Amino acid sequence: LTSKLPSSGTTIFTVMSKLAHESGAINLSQGYPDFDCNPELINLVNKHMRAGHNQYAPMAGVDMLRERISEKVNRLYGASYDPETEVTVTAGGTQAIFTAIAALVHPNDEVIVFDPAYDSYAPAVKLVGGFVKSYELSPPIYKIDWKAVRKLISAHTRMIILNTPQNPTGTTLKEEDIQELIAITRNTDILILSDEVYEHMIYDGRQHLSMARYPELQERSLICASFGKLFHNTGWKTGYCMAPATLTDEFRKVHQYQVFSVNTPVQHAIANYLADESHYEGLSAFYQAKRDFFAELMQGSRFKLLECEGSYFQTARFDRISGERDTEFARRLTTEFGVAAIPVSAFYAKGSDFGIVRFCFAKKDETLERAAEKLQKV
Ligand code: GLN
Repeated sequence: LTSKLPSSGTTIFTVMSKLAHESGAINLSQGYPDFDCNPELINLVNKHMRAGHNQYAPMAGVDMLRERISEKVNRLYGASYDPETEVTVTAGGTQAIFTAIAALVHPNDEVIVFDPAYDSYAPAVKLVGGFVKSYELSPPIYKIDWKAVRKLISAHTRMIILNTPQNPTGTTLKEEDIQELIAITRNTDILILSDEVYEHMIYDGRQHLSMARYPELQERSLICASFGKLFHNTGWKTGYCMAPATLTDEFRKVHQYQVFSVNTPVQHAIANYLADESHYEGLSAFYQAKRDFFAELMQGSRFKLLECEGSYFQTARFDRISGERDTEFARRLTTEFGVAAIPVSAFYAKGSDFGIVRFCFAKKDETLERAAEKLQKV
């Protein structure tokens, strides 16, 4: 059998969560909350199930949900997206990303990816016969040198994949990055796939710079978002993709054969819940407090925390502890010290290892306390 993805094993999130489970370790590896979503939301799903919303949803998503999404984006970013032709509800952010790539990248097209990158981008590009052009960002600040990016662009460049706030680094794009992006894509037909699943986790007064804020970028962007991140229910696997109608047409051609449509009662429930802004307005403050709480608990440990501007991930250097490869260190941290983390080399196409691990702080305070107590002993 010839593998279509010879360089992929099982995704690091599954590997580390499994190891955490088997070792009885506190799981700060895979990114998901260890607290539940609002019971009001669960009641709403129930209500809609009882009301008979149990058959296929419209292929593009429940109308009411697409309308609420469009209103939210308009209010937050001043952009207008037609719910009828420009918003599609997906089975989570990862499906939105995969579908966008499958629908728009042709064989031999080149796609620019900023490493360390979420691990689903590159395999999706390879599966459709595209080539990944990785641009490596380095700690501690992971700044993008746009002159170097310019050199990666060729006549074959079809897409640039961006992720702000970025997983795993917790960095965010700044206004100067956006201006560079506008300049390098002007008069080209390069598309932007913008993974904005952490848009509502942005700290210290920063603003989320969505592609939707900039008309020159909006017209070439597919923006992917996640309700699992927004409402603490990653297991409901619900998200969406927004893009101009011509791009959405292509997106839906693939979406309809991948999943056809997404869980109906959940879409109705989220549509009701999303109408109240107070259900997500405080999310950045909520997670900023968790970030700060975890950092405080880690003071005096031998880990060096890097800056986290957004997302629910805190990265840390472990060079004062060990010179091992990060994969080996993360494994030992789990099995010997009882805390699971993600080795950041898993996010680099070339496996580059800077001696950094990623902790997810979307956890109860008590979980963070127990984890930090163990990490203090490392
Ligand atoms: N996005 C989450 C993370 O980076 C989890 C995604 C997944 O498990 N596929 O941990």
